[in-house]
Order: sequence, then C-alpha cells, then structure tokens
Amino acid sequence: MKERTLLMIPGPIEFDTAVLAEMGAQTTSHVAASFIEAFGQALERMRQVWQSTDGQPFVLAGSGTLAMDTAGANLIEPGDKALVINTGYFSDRFAAILERYGAQVTHVRAPIGGRPSLEEVEQALKQDHFKLMTVTQVDTSTAVRTDVQSLAALARQSDTLIVVDGVCSVAGEELRMSEWGVDVALTASQKAIGVPPGLALLVASPKAMQAFLARKTPVANYYADWANWLPIMQAYEARKPGYFGTPAVNLVWALNVSLGQILNEGLDARFKRHQAVGRACRAGITALGLDQVPLLPEFAANTLSAPRFPKGITGTDLLPRILKAGVTLAGGLHPAIRAEYFRIGHMGAATLGDVLATIGAIETALTQCGYQFESGTGVAAAMKTYHE
Ligand code: PMP
Repeated sequence: MKERTLLMIPGPIEFDTAVLAEMGAQTTSHVAASFIEAFGQALERMRQVWQSTDGQPFVLAGSGTLAMDTAGANLIEPGDKALVINTGYFSDRFAAILERYGAQVTHVRAPIGGRPSLEEVEQALKQDHFKLMTVTQVDTSTAVRTDVQSLAALARQSDTLIVVDGVCSVAGEELRMSEWGVDVALTASQKAIGVPPGLALLVASPKAMQAFLARKTPVANYYADWANWLPIMQAYEARKPGYFGTPAVNLVWALNVSLGQILNEGLDARFKRHQAVGRACRAGITALGLDQVPLLPEFAANTLSAPRFPKGITGTDLLPRILKAGVTLAGGLHPAIRAEYFRIGHMGAATLGDVLATIGAIETALTQCGYQFESGTGVAAAMKTYHE
C-alpha cells in the first residue's frame, strides 16, 4: 500500500519534482555567479507572474505573514488611516499588523461567506481619506474570492493605495497588477507559486515605493525595512552581488524553476485550469448534497473549496476516514464556524485527477459515516463539470 497520501490542503501543496530537486541540490554561495543569475531571473519572472510592468519585487526568507508584516511596516506610519475589506481570518490578521504599526483601522465587514459590496466599499472610501486599503484576494478561512479589479478601481479614485493579500491566489487566480492598478501584491512560496514553505514574496508598485520613500518616521521593523532590502533586490537584478541578510539560497533556486514552469504553462492557461478544477470540485461537493461556506457561487475561490459537514457528521468522524482513503484535507479555520466545515486546496499543479481522487475519498468516508447518497455522484458531477 502507498504510504504517501495526496496532499490537498490549502498550502503547503504538492510540489513538482524539478522544484524539489533544487531543494536537495548542493547549496551555493549567495554571491556565486550562478546564484546571482538565478535570483536575478526569479525577480524578473516575478514581475511577469504578477503582471507588473514596473513594480519592485522583494524576496525575503519567511512565510506569508512576513510579507504582510513587510507591507504594513513599510507603508504605515503612526496615525495613518487604513481600510480593511474584511472577508475573514486573514483580513483580521492584516488589520492586527497595520494596528501594530500605529494605523487607525476601519473595517468593511461581510457576513461569514460573503464579501462587502462595491457600494459599501465606495461609501467607506467617501467617508474618510485612507492611506491604504487591504483586500484578501482569496480568504483561506472562507474560500471567498474578492473582486480585486473593481476594488482597485475604487481605491484609485480615492487616491488610496491598494494592498492585496494574494497568499492564496497569486499564480492561481487572475491578478493583473499594472492593468488593475494594484499597489502591493504579496504571497508565500508554499501555495500556487509551488515552492516549499519559506519565502515571503511581494511586488510593490512605483506609487507604493514613493509612499515608502516619503515616510517621515523610520520603519519600526529592522528586518522588514525596504531600505535594507531594496539595494539587494536591485543588485541581484543587475546581476551584481549584494548582502543584507543571507537569502534562503535553495528556496530561491527552487523559486526560479517554479516561476519558469508557471510562465511556460502561460498565465491565462493557468488561470483557466484553476477555474476548471475549482468548478469541478464545487460541482462534486454540491452533487453530494454538501453546502459550502461561500454564500454565492460567484464568491467562490478557484484555489480552494470549503464544504460544510452534513448534519450529524463531524470533522472527527469524517477527516480521519478521508485520510485513510488516501487524501489529506484541512479542517475549518474561521473561529466562528471552525467545527462546521473543512477545506480542500486545489492550487498549483492540481489536476482534475487530484480532484476526482479527493471527491472519491470524501465519498468513501461519507459512506463509512452512514451518510445516504448515491455512490459515485460526486465524482461524476466533478468530471462532467470539468469537461463542460
Ligand atoms: N493570507 C492568506 C490568505 C493565507 O492563506 C495565509 C496562509 N494560509 C496567510 C496570509 C499567512 O501565510 P503564512 O501561513 O505563510 O504566514
């Protein structure tokens, strides 16, 4: 029997073997000519994946939370006003980070599984002037996807910087940084970027960099300060050595390989694949009679799904049985509904085959729990929807 299970959580995901090979390769010097070339190329490729013509990429050793912390530390000064478009757990985290650096935060909240309407956001932007607004493109606690393009248009009208938490979306959901006028888009390596955990990735627009340069107070975080990292990123891109803190050398090698694979697939093809895989997964869940956390189908993310447990069945009943059937899934995360739902990640290299295996494992576990349904309906619906 296979010892390995299929990892279908919303990050870390399963990684490509060529990417993993870089992790096991002999570590080079961080100023070796070959590494400088790989890092420089990775920075250029980031700009392409983020669809930014003129943004400044940053690669730091750390997780997605460090990328959020970096945005907050460099763009907020004590007393600045910030607007948080709140769709769940990770929007709350961004608010906490901004407050830590002295921001006065206003939330536009939606009910769990919902997202604030554009009218509500427009109203909030009219009531005050905010230096920046944060949006979680996909909140991993609710599987809700926001309309970043429309929100960015509103932010631009109000001369407010728009910062996108794309940890669960960059390289999976459509994001056109320059065309949409996004000022910061950040993520972590372990999700749709397809590299093991350990890199905080961020691209800042010229407008965001100007806001940073116009600060009157020093950045209250030594490690995250762009003043320390900007010369390093510029040096690597100019194929010159630089040092502030030792980069995560093997992860950067792996990042360059993965970004190359992403660009080879083509961004539009990749977004379409995520949409097809996401639709298939949601159709399979619905066919089994399970509700989902997003309140409307158009709010649902393509990078993960969040099915609710059927009546009378708990996570303790279901998730270990799904695991035994060969698939690792994640429990709930949003504190208010944590025990009521579970999460399926389907980003990065995820295929229809992975989704079919997952829905099959869920069907097996549901049968063992005594849930009444017609065996095979979930798998059939996922397959049919994928090909539509
Ligand atoms: N934002 C979102 C939307 C996320 O999904 C996550 C991780 N699940 C984070 C931020 C935080 O990232 P990390 O766990 O890598 O610190």
